[in-house]
Amino acid sequence: MEAFDIAIVGAGLAGNIAALALADSGRRVVLVAPSARHTDGRTTALMAQSMDFIRDLGLFEDIAKVAAPLETMRILDGTGRLFRAPPVSFRSSEVGLPAFGYNIPNAPFLEELETRISAQQAITRFDTKLDRLVLTEAAAELHLADGRTLAAGLVAGADGRQSEVRRQSGIAVRNWTYPQTALVLNFTHELPHANMSTEFHTEHGPFTQVPLPGRRSSLVWVLSPREAEATQALPLEALSRAVEDRMQSVLGKVTVEAAPQAFPLSGMQADRFGKGRVVLLGEAAHAFPPIGAQGLNLSLRDVMALRDLLSDPALSAATIGEAFDRSRRADIQSRTLSVDLLNRSLLSGFLPVQILRTAGLHMLSAIGPLRSVVMREGVEPGGSWKAVRETLRERVSRKQA
Ligand SMILES: Cc1cc2nc3c(=O)[nH]c(=O)nc-3n(C[C@H](O)[C@H](O)[C@H](O)COP(=O)(O)OP(=O)(O)OC[C@H]3O[C@@H](n4cnc5c(N)ncnc54)[C@H](O)[C@@H]3O)c2cc1C
Repeated sequence: MEAFDIAIVGAGLAGNIAALALADSGRRVVLVAPSARHTDGRTTALMAQSMDFIRDLGLFEDIAKVAAPLETMRILDGTGRLFRAPPVSFRSSEVGLPAFGYNIPNAPFLEELETRISAQQAITRFDTKLDRLVLTEAAAELHLADGRTLAAGLVAGADGRQSEVRRQSGIAVRNWTYPQTALVLNFTHELPHANMSTEFHTEHGPFTQVPLPGRRSSLVWVLSPREAEATQALPLEALSRAVEDRMQSVLGKVTVEAAPQAFPLSGMQADRFGKGRVVLLGEAAHAFPPIGAQGLNLSLRDVMALRDLLSDPALSAATIGEAFDRSRRADIQSRTLSVDLLNRSLLSGFLPVQILRTAGLHMLSAIGPLRSVVMREGVEPGGSWKAVRETLRERVSRKQA
């Protein structure tokens, strides 16, 4: 039986990035997954902390070529409600960053990751599925669909929402749904986007335009399932007009490139994120609606946390799952809750909730320091408190000097 230090199961964005990051530490890594289909029309906005990680992995130059920087993020209230919020814009220059992050098309992103993996000697790739996982005192045994059996000290399940690693490790999940569907499409437009993303808040959820290189943008349009079905069936010309109307023509004439892909919105959280010699990464551990560009950013923090734990000589592979579970709990729960609250606050017809949301956006529009905290939290969770601590430390040392 071939033996490895780490087996990663699943080669979506999370699994591929985990393989590159963990092989960097000199361990023998095996990546078990059928090759991804490159038909994913989605794009992923990765914030500054995630892009720093991508840079550490030596991927930044090649990824940035196909991506667009996010320099301004604007929220416009597109509800027809009594209490409407003022427009709020966040500029990365306000917190001293050239960009909050980058918007990357998933298909070339995956292609680049696969090219890097095939050039990495420390990564062995098996193009097949995990069938059965047997966890023993000494190691994990992975029985693959092609008949092969492998042994590994640690198993990282990055095999998505229906994770077999999770199920076969006896980790339960909580699932929930929302009465919404996200339509995802890319479009060209007449006017330049100036690297600005605009999110229109509507009664059914957000309608978010995110820049791509040139005069192109991606769109995540959250609708009721009935409206989503009708919109998805529109001919491209009528769909282009509908998108332009919804955007109040802020980017001029719009041409939708291809029929939208539909994603019914739901949430999922595993009861635990690690157990014994098993850890769960990305959507095997957590999933929520694509609101506020959180999913893969959170998954990359899973990978960073695992890499840090693996560098601790006091931890053994057989029990790393417990340490990983503890280290990821607060971040995963707080992100899941904040996306859920933001989404529900848009859907709510309850007047006090609408007033609270509107008051929150008023405060964000008017109070500079609050805007700074929110912007820093957006690009690096915990980053705002780090900045406050650093400012205080600087002031104290200036006083003492
Ligand atoms: C519309 C939409 C927009 C989004 N936008 C953003 C964004 O802007 N920013 C952001 O941070 N996040 C965003 N996300 C979230 C992000 O796309 C996901 O977090 C990410 O794609 C999930 O990646 P993953 O690798 O965890 O899972 P997946 O992509 O599901 O990959 C799982 C892989 O495991 C493999 N697999 C499954 N079973 C097995 C098995 N038994 N053996 C071996 N392999 C197996 C599958 O073939 C697959 O390749 C968005 C999500 C949606 C739906």
